[in-house]
Amino acid sequence: MAIDLITRAEWRARRPTGSYTSLDRTRGVKVHYTGGRVDPRTVEDHDLCVAAVRGIQRGHMDSNGWMDIGYTAAVCAHRKVFVGRGLHHLPAANGPGQNSGHYAVLGLVGNSGLIVPPAQMLHGICDAIEWLRAEGGAGLEIKGHRDGYSTDCPGPELYAWVRAGARRPGAVPDDPPAPGKPSAPPFPGRLLSYPPMTTGADVYSWQCQMRDRGWDLIPDAWYGERSRDICVAFQRDSTAHGWPLDDDGVVGPATWRAAWERPVS
Ligand SMILES: [Zn+2]
Ligand SMILES: [Zn+2]
Repeated sequence: MAIDLITRAEWRARRPTGSYTSLDRTRGVKVHYTGGRVDPRTVEDHDLCVAAVRGIQRGHMDSNGWMDIGYTAAVCAHRKVFVGRGLHHLPAANGPGQNSGHYAVLGLVGNSGLIVPPAQMLHGICDAIEWLRAEGGAGLEIKGHRDGYSTDCPGPELYAWVRAGARRPGAVPDDPPAPGKPSAPPFPGRLLSYPPMTTGADVYSWQCQMRDRGWDLIPDAWYGERSRDICVAFQRDSTAHGWPLDDDGVVGPATWRAAWERPVS
């Protein structure tokens, strides 16, 4: 979905008391939390989110003496992105000397009350980052406030999420699956046995697999005496190598699976 921006007029932001320093581009974004208490009822009532962001701006201007809220943007539990200083403006929240390198995005969680960022907030932070990249010249870095500055911000929950790649909730990791775990094709659903001879594509694929494992067998799709003898030998060999199988000469589900999944010894 498209980013759900809350304009400064919509959250009734105060006017900045000075002019912004322009930023052409940044290396990326730093993620923040409030470092204080966030009312857990914000999750139920977005008006409380608006009040919280207004309170943060008041603190930054009246207590810190800043010209505006220090963040580039703030994100609440409702996946709404409040415009703070906005695109191409130097933030103040990253700490002295740290502001030209990264935009500052706040997740509206704290160290008490609402501590764990809800999934919609993580989506909102991702929305904000994509917006800053697309329109604000932000580079690919995603860091926490504590990277390069002495603070616990953005708290353990958001920081762990940042370190894990700041992925959208539910996203499939793009790491490749762990190597070295072969898996068998589905068991064909019937026993391969002799006598009488069983024949079919399932016999052929089992024979090919056994040949590939090094057994002296020419795949012909017919499970006859030779196939059965190799099956018995394979079953005994498996049992001897800690993968117990009945040596009945019948390819059932366990023997089928072992043909693919048992390491070649
Ligand atoms: Zn911070
Ligand atoms: Zn909200």
